[in-house]
Amino acid sequence: MPTDPTIAVIGGGVAGLGPAWQLARRGLSVTLFERDHVGAGASRRAAGMLAPTAEVTFEEVELLRLGQQSLQMYPRWIDELGETTDVDIDYRREGTLIVAVDRDDAEALEHLYRYHRRLDLPVQRLLGEEARKLEPGLSPRVNYALFTPGDHQIDPIRMVQAMAEAFLSAGGTLHENSAASEVIVTDGALEGLRLEDGRLIEADHVVVAAGAWSGQLEGLPAGVLPHVRPVRGQMLVVELGEPPIVEHVIRAPDAYLAPKSDGRLLIGSTMEERGFDPRLTAGGLYDILDGAWEAVPGIYDAHVLDMWTGFRPVSLANQPIIGPTSIDGLFLSVGHGRNGIVLTPATAYGLAETIATGRAPDYLEPFLPR
Ligand SMILES: Cc1cc2nc3c(=O)[nH]c(=O)nc-3n(C[C@H](O)[C@H](O)[C@H](O)COP(=O)(O)OP(=O)(O)OC[C@H]3O[C@@H](n4cnc5c(N)ncnc54)[C@H](O)[C@@H]3O)c2cc1C
Repeated sequence: MPTDPTIAVIGGGVAGLGPAWQLARRGLSVTLFERDHVGAGASRRAAGMLAPTAEVTFEEVELLRLGQQSLQMYPRWIDELGETTDVDIDYRREGTLIVAVDRDDAEALEHLYRYHRRLDLPVQRLLGEEARKLEPGLSPRVNYALFTPGDHQIDPIRMVQAMAEAFLSAGGTLHENSAASEVIVTDGALEGLRLEDGRLIEADHVVVAAGAWSGQLEGLPAGVLPHVRPVRGQMLVVELGEPPIVEHVIRAPDAYLAPKSDGRLLIGSTMEERGFDPRLTAGGLYDILDGAWEAVPGIYDAHVLDMWTGFRPVSLANQPIIGPTSIDGLFLSVGHGRNGIVLTPATAYGLAETIATGRAPDYLEPFLPR
């Protein structure tokens, strides 16, 4: 009797854990290997903004559409998580305010507004005082704003925890403190992977989802793993206070503020090319604090709770790469860059469907490995 295929996933961030959970949910045998602990990479360090509209840049329309699709999947995603875990991922739907603090910013936002309209995105223009009615903590300097009511947010730390619990409840096997060193391919055929402690793990399918570290895996022929580099982001967490300093996600020209229901206010983030240097810098923190303070002066007295850096996994095309490779049984879930949290459901459902049925859903077409 044929046995069910075995699936090994390398990396316990959202890009690995999501497909792993969905595959286990389909009754497949899935084992996830994580070098550290789940979410230890970028996934627990993100702000959790689900903001395809606010994030859209002028050349990234395919990414925008994937983000929108994924955002629409969030209610189903949350329902499915709720079937097996009590962890509330703090899904908040107040929307996002993108604010201008001087005339140049206002011009730039006006340009962005026209682009949003051309793409038929839900967005409203607000004068400074209209924006302050929605968010009284905004500086009097805010002279213009865009409101994107469809951009939501979650708490990534809680989501990773919920996903890990759901994965285990679905019958998945999790090995933390277990780094993979090599994908084993013999005469072009996938055999499995080797762990850093030397153990060989046989698997019919392997999913590479090691975030910014994916390129460090050995054993694969040149060109199979795409180039993915770490782009460092610094984050500062302060007390939100009572009444809260802000209730919406605020995106200012040089920083964003994301309020969480547990009383934290996340202030981020830099985009730095510093390799894997994990250290915070005075300049990075200064820039995000100054950028946040310009838009929301009330943060001046907020108590500091935490701060960290994280490495966004960024591909050359600045978009995720999700799907089968030229090696039968080897799949990628890498390169999610600034958007891994919003793209979590689309990645998980899409890759699980691809592996389980042999066919990728249409929406993944632009993101398949080439
Ligand atoms: C400061 C910051 C703010 C962000 N804000 C947002 C946001 O608001 N919205 C949004 O959508 N996205 C945001 N992002 C982006 C998002 O966090 C990432 O796109 C996403 O977490 C990437 O997930 P991943 O699973 O690919 O990588 P990671 O979360 O980095 O996971 C990779 C995992 O692989 C493990 N690993 C590495 N090598 C090995 C190995 N050899 N063997 C086994 N395991 C290994 C690592 O320990 C790690 O846990 C932000 C990122 C940062 C840094």
